[in-house]
Amino acid sequence: MRAARLGDDIDDFCVKCKRVMNHSVVSILNDEPAKVRCRTCHSDHDFRHEQAPPPKVDPRKAALFNQVLEKVTGVPAGPEDAPVAEAAEAVEAGAGVSAEAAPAPKAKKKAKA
Ligand SMILES: [Zn+2]
Repeated sequence: MRAARLGDDIDDFCVKCKRVMNHSVVSILNDEPAKVRCRTCHSDHDFRHEQAPPPKVDPRKAALFNQVLEKVTGVPAGPEDAPVAEAAEAVEAGAGVSAEAAPAPKAKKKAKA
């Protein structure tokens, strides 16, 4: 493989476009592209060898999700999913929560009869 040169076209993963895009080499280190510029969004970034960055697991989002789950089910979200499943069954059985979610069918039936 020949050495990269400034301005060369090169494929790389663009974090802004979130995909492998055409890039131009804007910086070279040891005959290898060090920095590239996306030809689509014109953002500069380190050459990633076409590798996407690892997906970020947002701990705050996970905590928020568990908070909401706890509010809905009234059960603290733990490593075991049994309490959550029980709560879901209670909701399905019509514990007052489901009536609020789907009142339309009942009203239609009443109007017909
Ligand atoms: Zn881009």
